Amino acid sequence: HQRLLQELKGKPTQTSKGQRIKLYANIGRPSDVDDVLANDAEGIGLFRSEFLYLDSQDYPTEEFQFNAYREVAQRMEGKNVVIRTLDIGADKQVGYFGLEHEANPALGYRAIRICLTRPEIFKVQLRAILRASAFGNISIMLPMITSVNEVHDAKAIIEAVKAQLRSEHVDFDERIKVGIMIETPASVIMAPELAREVDFFSIGTNDLTQYTLACDRQNPNLSRFADPHSPAVLRMIAMTAKAAHDAGIWCGICGELGADRELTQTFVDDGIDELSVTPSSVLPVREIVREH
Ligand code: PEP
Ligand code: MG
Repeated sequence: HQRLLQELKGKPTQTSKGQRIKLYANIGRPSDVDDVLANDAEGIGLFRSEFLYLDSQDYPTEEFQFNAYREVAQRMEGKNVVIRTLDIGADKQVGYFGLEHEANPALGYRAIRICLTRPEIFKVQLRAILRASAFGNISIMLPMITSVNEVHDAKAIIEAVKAQLRSEHVDFDERIKVGIMIETPASVIMAPELAREVDFFSIGTNDLTQYTLACDRQNPNLSRFADPHSPAVLRMIAMTAKAAHDAGIWCGICGELGADRELTQTFVDDGIDELSVTPSSVLPVREIVREH
């Protein structure tokens, strides 16, 4: 079987009827690009940028981040690299942020909520991402969105950073795409409105399952109740894809469910445009799509 999988390298991720799926990979660090290339992923659908923060003793500088993002973009040679902005808090804690202890961290001060209240941190990251966008095909993805207002606020900060770079005559991709993660029930319900504001959706099934089923994703005692194939979650995925397509944008999945081969057929039938999976799952998922 390993040999059969190897033969899928370079082959399109396409059903027998010709429906094409973009098959991307998830990474946390620039060095993960080795695995992405070795497994023939067609892009990077989720660069969990918080690892650059988790690996540091203090706030990573613009230059440090710029080098990391540029390296990934260059090595991907024009293939799409979706960089998720800082998703710290909850299950990902960093000491130097000085975050207060919370009784319910998953429902607390995390991700885009930190970025919108501490724009000085967000802007450093956005400058690094935008500067790196001159060296490849980078997209920006915002995590933990629950409302249209948050998207407006984040986009206003992105525009301010772009204006600053222009005034400094620093190159960046003027047409850089901005998308959001759909990983809260609120964002599924508001998907038709959100889709008019952004260039793409990527469904974070890890958090979407946690918030939809009210089951802490880190509590192993809840596995009986946290059914990843829950019809509630699957219906939300279909609703999200439909809202995206009605507005003319693409919709992917970057949570772990995206690599679940038992669901690949469902996702293809939902019209999911992109699956971003751990690098070792790329060829197994390509195999199952081609058998569809
Ligand atoms: C998700 O929530 O499904 C996701 C992809 O993001 P993370 O696992 O990093 O929270
Ligand atoms: Mg998440």
